[in-house]
Amino acid sequence: MNAPGQDTHYDIVIAGGGMIGTSLALALAPLGLEIAVVEAVARQAGAQPSFDDRSTALSRSTQRMFEAMGLWNEIVAASTPITSIHVSDKGRFGFSHIDAEEQGVEALGYVVINRVLGSVLQSAMSKLDGVDLVCPARIVDIALCPEQARAVVESGGGSRQTLTCNLLVAADGANSATREMMGISVQQSQYDQRAVIGNVLPENKLDNRAFERFTAQGPLAILPVADDRAGFIWAVSEDDAERVLALDDGAFLSELQAEFGYRLGTFSRAGKRASYPLTLSKAARLTATRSVLIGNAAHGLHPVSAQGFNLGMRDVAALCDCIADGLAGSGGSDPGDAQLLERYASWRRSDQKKLLRFTDSLVRLFGSSRRPLRALRNLGMLGFDLIPGVRSVFAKHTMGLAGNLPRLSRGVPLK
Ligand SMILES: Cc1cc2nc3c(=O)[nH]c(=O)nc-3n(C[C@H](O)[C@H](O)[C@H](O)COP(=O)(O)OP(=O)(O)OC[C@H]3O[C@@H](n4cnc5c(N)ncnc54)[C@H](O)[C@@H]3O)c2cc1C
Repeated sequence: MNAPGQDTHYDIVIAGGGMIGTSLALALAPLGLEIAVVEAVARQAGAQPSFDDRSTALSRSTQRMFEAMGLWNEIVAASTPITSIHVSDKGRFGFSHIDAEEQGVEALGYVVINRVLGSVLQSAMSKLDGVDLVCPARIVDIALCPEQARAVVESGGGSRQTLTCNLLVAADGANSATREMMGISVQQSQYDQRAVIGNVLPENKLDNRAFERFTAQGPLAILPVADDRAGFIWAVSEDDAERVLALDDGAFLSELQAEFGYRLGTFSRAGKRASYPLTLSKAARLTATRSVLIGNAAHGLHPVSAQGFNLGMRDVAALCDCIADGLAGSGGSDPGDAQLLERYASWRRSDQKKLLRFTDSLVRLFGSSRRPLRALRNLGMLGFDLIPGVRSVFAKHTMGLAGNLPRLSRGVPLK
């Protein structure tokens, strides 16, 4: 850190060193820029909220990004592949099925515990020469001018310093204070559900199968994780969440079992549980003068589609592409150039909009007990299996391979 009163200049300041902010710093490394990552929570084991005990399903486009960034070998060693996804609706016969082999891929995605992914990303970032981690610290004030952005950073002990930069990136999550200081409003709607997460030991092995089950309470996802355990993400109604969290292990296991059924035999040995509020959110804009939103600061999804992080990674990939092209262009050396940011915003809007709409429709269609929606849902399930191509389109979205993909999402290194 600099002496008080002294400004330090960076090419890019990233607010938030979570899954997305850290990934951006790593992805930009080949461009040789000077970067500061300002993170509010200190790195002691398990403390940082982004890198907690949740399991995240990484899509194929995210896998390709980490491959291009030289991090995949380490990540895959700590991940479990998903080779099929089984989708069912509680109380109805029939189900749908997506298979990796049918899609011509080795795996539909990989499941990794956020804490484990965090330690790979944080350790890789600490080895980068051009990246300073300012932590624990928060940006408490910003000024966005056409020539540069200024960020006043308050560290844990209360001391302040000013960072100036060409580009300020808000990657500080769903309640982004930086987004608010940028003057960007956000549209939010609550699902009145909470995601209860944890893991159990199923009697029968998952064998790399993932399950998505739509229940009256909300969707329940079961993912294959290490040691033959099954990670679960269960959306329960907000009114019932406290009760579900407070159940003793035996009572919890029987409720989970009643929702999921016995396709995997009997569940036992429940792990620690935690819960997360579920909100749909969309920022009104993605950029302001010399500043940009990425990840959950830009959009928040229900985890039913397991796509929030993957969508954020495509923000990272597109921003990197725009910056790399901008720097390579005639006389360009400014990652905060207005045209470059405009290109990023128009590129990302359509992917974000489509995925928000798709995820929201899944929750509303499958979460409803209203008759017309139930009929539509049955048609949807039938169509899903019977109409040629529908499953492939769904699988393409799940794998993050739909639309116009940036270099990193195609596995092509930036440089
Ligand atoms: C139950 C659940 C399951 C999920 N499963 C999946 C999945 O399978 N696949 C998938 O793709 N996505 C999944 N997601 C979504 C995914 O977790 C998020 O999209 C992802 O964590 C967003 O990362 P982020 O870095 O943008 O934000 P965050 O993870 O919220 O990180 C923000 C970071 O900014 C820091 N911060 C906050 N405020 C400040 C400040 N003022 N100054 C400095 N730093 C600050 C925080 O400490 C944190 O480190 C799931 C989400 C939930 C809730």
